[in-house]
Amino acid sequence: MNLLGHLNAEPWMADAACRDHPNPDLFFADLTDHHIHRTAKTICAECPVTNQCRSYATDKGAEFGVWGGLTAKERGRLEKTQRTPAPPTLAKQCGTIAGAQRHYRRGEGTCPRCRVAATEHRRKSRDNRRNPIGKTA
Ligand code: SF4
Ligand SMILES: [Zn+2]
Repeated sequence: MNLLGHLNAEPWMADAACRDHPNPDLFFADLTDHHIHRTAKTICAECPVTNQCRSYATDKGAEFGVWGGLTAKERGRLEKTQRTPAPPTLAKQCGTIAGAQRHYRRGEGTCPRCRVAATEHRRKSRDNRRNPIGKTA
């Protein structure tokens, strides 16, 4: 039984593919042992709880071993890319309301030019509401 089998801390661990593996060292091998890592990874590839396992390792700050099919180094890289949001890209539409909407759709922040366009757009629609065309004040 491997470490996860002993832990049994989370319900998903009952489904771990490595749970009853005869060689738990596979998953906690030396950081640089690529051959052993490969073997562990093939087991993880068949595992139904890879995502849970990976999040668990990241949450607990596991510094060694293969968790969720990734070595500590690989988990660190993944976490870093997930933490760092991609900077908004300057597209042709940038600086227009369509450009700003494109950023919103992608769930990213607006670039400076689109932010100006969006502010201007809001200001204009506010003015229009206050002073609709065809209606004299
Ligand atoms: S992903 Fe790999 S280390 Fe995690 S529970 Fe499954 S087999 Fe074990
Ligand atoms: Zn933009």
